[in-house]
Amino acid sequence: MPNLDDLPLRDDLKGRKPYGAPQLEVPIALNVNENTHRIPREVIEDIFSRIAHATLQLNRYPDREFLGLRKAFADYLGHDLTVEQIWAANGSNEIIQQIIQAFGGPGRLALGFGPTYSMYSIIALGFETDYLDAPRLDRYELKPEHVREQILKHKPNTVLLCSPNNPTGTPLSLDCIEAAYEAVTEVTGGIVVVDEAYAEFAPTNTLSALTLLPGRERLMVSRTMSKAFAFAGARVGYLAADPAVVDALRLVRLPYHLSALTQAAAEGALAHSAAMLQTVDDIRVQRDRLIVELTEMGLDPYRSEANFVLFGGLQDSAATWQALLDRGILVRNVGIPGTLRVTAGTESETTAFLSSLREVLAG
Ligand SMILES: *Cc1c(COP(=O)(O)O)cnc(C)c1O
Repeated sequence: MPNLDDLPLRDDLKGRKPYGAPQLEVPIALNVNENTHRIPREVIEDIFSRIAHATLQLNRYPDREFLGLRKAFADYLGHDLTVEQIWAANGSNEIIQQIIQAFGGPGRLALGFGPTYSMYSIIALGFETDYLDAPRLDRYELKPEHVREQILKHKPNTVLLCSPNNPTGTPLSLDCIEAAYEAVTEVTGGIVVVDEAYAEFAPTNTLSALTLLPGRERLMVSRTMSKAFAFAGARVGYLAADPAVVDALRLVRLPYHLSALTQAAAEGALAHSAAMLQTVDDIRVQRDRLIVELTEMGLDPYRSEANFVLFGGLQDSAATWQALLDRGILVRNVGIPGTLRVTAGTESETTAFLSSLREVLAG
C-alpha cells in the first residue's frame, strides 16, 4: 500500500498536515464554534419543501449565478447592498479560497495577524501564495498604528482581518480596518478581506465592516451561515464587495459551484432569518457567563465578541483537554500553550462544561 510520501506530490505540500479539528462522537461537542441549538421546526419544514421542489429539476444544472440567493443575502445584510455586490460559495472557506485564487498566487504575500484562523495559511499555501502571521499586541488586541506598521513593513498583497478573531475572540475596531486599507493601498494596491464569520454575536449596535464598503473597491467582507445561523452542515458562506470583485471571483469559481440543493436550503433558512437567529442572545449570555465563571475559577479568559472563549491559566492544556473528553466534553486545543477554546453552547452544555472543568481542576 503506497502512502502519501510515495506520491509525486507538489514539493510545497510535502510534509504538510490537513485541517484537522477532531470529529468525535461525544455527548457535548463545543470544539468548532457551531450553533449547538437545533433549527426551529417550522424552518425545517420550509427547507424540506424547497429541497423537494429543487429535486424535481436535478437533471438540470443549477442557476450558475444564484440570483435568488444573492438577493436574499443582500436583503439580509442591508446597507443598501445590491445583488451585484454579493457572492456566495460552499462555506466562507471557499469564499476565501476564491479570493486567494483570484488575488494571490506565486510571488504574492497574504498577511494575517496571528494567532488567527488556521485556514488562511492552508488556503494560501494551496495556491502557492506566501503567508505570514504578523504579531498581535498584548492580549491579542490590535491597534491601527500597529496594523499600519506591519503592513508597511511586510508589503502584503492581501490582508486578512478576522473580526472578531478566531481563536481568540478579540473584536476589531473599524479604525484598524481603515488603517489596513490605507496602508495596503500605499504599499501594493492590494486587497483587504474582513472575515466576519462571528459578526452576529457582537454586541448590538456594533458597526460591521460593511459600513466601510462605499468608496473602497478593494475591501471585501466575508460572512458565513455556519455559526450564528446554525447551518454549518449546509456549507454556505457569502461575501459583500464591489461588483468588480465579484467579477474577479467568477474567473476562478468552478461552474455551478453552488448546488441547487444548497441554494434551496439557504434560501429557506434566509426566509426565516429572525427564527434562525433567535438563539444568538442566549449564546451571548452563555459566552459572558463562561468569562465570569472561568475568571472565578482562577483562569484567564480573553475578551470575546464571538460565540466562543479562549482561556489561559492551565498547567497542561493537553491533559485538561483529555480529562474533559473523558467526561464526554470536546473542546479545542488550538496549540497556544496553557489555553483551551470552548464554544458557548446551550445553557445546559455550558453548565456541564463548567462543572466538569471544576472537577478536573480540583484533581
Ligand atoms: C468557522 C469560520 C469560518 C467559516 O467557515 P465555513 O467555511 O463558512 O464553515 C470562516 N472564518 C472563520 C474565522 C471561522 O472561524
